[in-house]
Amino acid sequence: MSDLMHRDLLFIGGRWQKPVTGARTSIVSPRTEKTIGYVPDGTSGDIDRAVQEARTAFDDGAWPKTRIPERSALLRRIANLLRARAGDIKRLLIDEMGTTAMMADIMQVPLASEQFDYYATLIESFPFEKEVSEHDRLALNVLEPVGVVAAIVPWNVPLSIAANKVAPALAAGCTVVLKPAPEAPLSLFLLADILEESGLPAGVVNVVPGGRELGQYLVGHPDVDKIAFTGSTAAGKRIMATCAQSIKRVTLELGGKSAAVLLDDVDAAVAVPRVVMGGMSLSGQICASQSRVLIPQSRRNELVDHIAALVGQVTVGDPREPTTVVGPLVSAAQRSRVEEYIALGKEEGATLAIGGGRPANLASGWYVEPTLFVDVGNEMRIAKEEIFGPVLTVTAYEDDDDAVRIANDSCYGLSGSVWTTNQMRGVGIARRIRTGWISVNGAQPPTGTSFGGFKQSGLGREMGRAGLEAYLEQRAIALDPSV
Ligand code: NAD
Repeated sequence: MSDLMHRDLLFIGGRWQKPVTGARTSIVSPRTEKTIGYVPDGTSGDIDRAVQEARTAFDDGAWPKTRIPERSALLRRIANLLRARAGDIKRLLIDEMGTTAMMADIMQVPLASEQFDYYATLIESFPFEKEVSEHDRLALNVLEPVGVVAAIVPWNVPLSIAANKVAPALAAGCTVVLKPAPEAPLSLFLLADILEESGLPAGVVNVVPGGRELGQYLVGHPDVDKIAFTGSTAAGKRIMATCAQSIKRVTLELGGKSAAVLLDDVDAAVAVPRVVMGGMSLSGQICASQSRVLIPQSRRNELVDHIAALVGQVTVGDPREPTTVVGPLVSAAQRSRVEEYIALGKEEGATLAIGGGRPANLASGWYVEPTLFVDVGNEMRIAKEEIFGPVLTVTAYEDDDDAVRIANDSCYGLSGSVWTTNQMRGVGIARRIRTGWISVNGAQPPTGTSFGGFKQSGLGREMGRAGLEAYLEQRAIALDPSV
């Protein structure tokens, strides 16, 4: 495993190359708080080289013109290689990010490989060219790759978020510079190994890790045609402003503060375990977490007792254990941020029902106890702002209209759920909540479903057909129909 933890070279132009400087970023285990590896600290010089390689591979290389069967076969090969390296990828994610084994199994290799397979199939029948005729007029509508893509990913679910960008970008015929977050780059170095092994032509994907400043430099690079970003809303606003300078294409997958709405007919025995599990998984460090739980006032006491009992039973500890639900937070800074929000919740007058501290039995690691605030007013900052930790808030509502009003009273609109014994009633409420992705009773959508946010949760969509269209430009060629 050690060679996967210590990386001296960058994947640029299809080869592992020395970075411009010898600077390194240490990777610190959230579980042990000890340094476990390192990667090069990418610089603007490395980004220049990576963008140049991606530019050349796009402008002069074979990839954008590759025949669809070849492109599909390569995407499928990447999916298979990902599955073959699932064990290594899982270990890296547990070590670098504190991902629990359970979430690594659900959210990383299966979702990432699914994306490569999905786009391999989609492009086999996708109408990249279409003739449009009307009376005496004729045009050819051509969908062509947008160009060089800068794919910027966060640390929380690095592999599958990278796949949500790289797979459709490759399917469209684009070339890519991928920038992992400094907290969790190792699994994306392994992705680079896989891309190299897959036979992808040189320069089509390049990987340079680094922090915010490097990301800003990449976003502003004149030879980049499109930004595909996942991260915080604050960063998304800056990126959009930079893109505005040159009308650069941009898709943004940003933050959320989603609501799980339990209707008054809810079967608590079914809903509560799943809502608690959903909010606590990956220690709440999921953009689509439904961290605001809305319950009917008429069943307040029963539901609060039930939710508190289950939050108290959530397994906290070593992320390598298959039953662990809440592992460590990604960094000391992230733990401080979560603890500040817990202190704020108390100051704001919410009732701390359970948790709020650090687990007494864990000597090392950036852990926070599963925490529940009840009687939370939706105007409180703990209900408004993304905490990104194992913290649920419970807010009681009067009736369905009130529940919809509270769910919508947010600058975000990423995810959500409605819990009820009457699916049609649930659909009715779901339609009224302004959010990009919502389930009735926690159902999972098919692979081809697009994902993205309303309001400040994002711009554009990833995954599904819309996820491919995000990497295509539309050209119309008018023709003389009489020829
Ligand atoms: P972040 O915005 O701090 O960083 C995300 C990535 O962007 C990192 O690689 C970082 O180095 C880079 N970056 C930061 N500022 C930048 C800038 N101004 N220009 C260019 N690059 C920049 O976010 P984070 O703390 O790593 O991740 C957590 C956030 O990501 C949460 O808000 C979460 O909701 C969001 N997220 C959203 C989705 C989604 O699909 N909507 C998925 C996962 C995470």
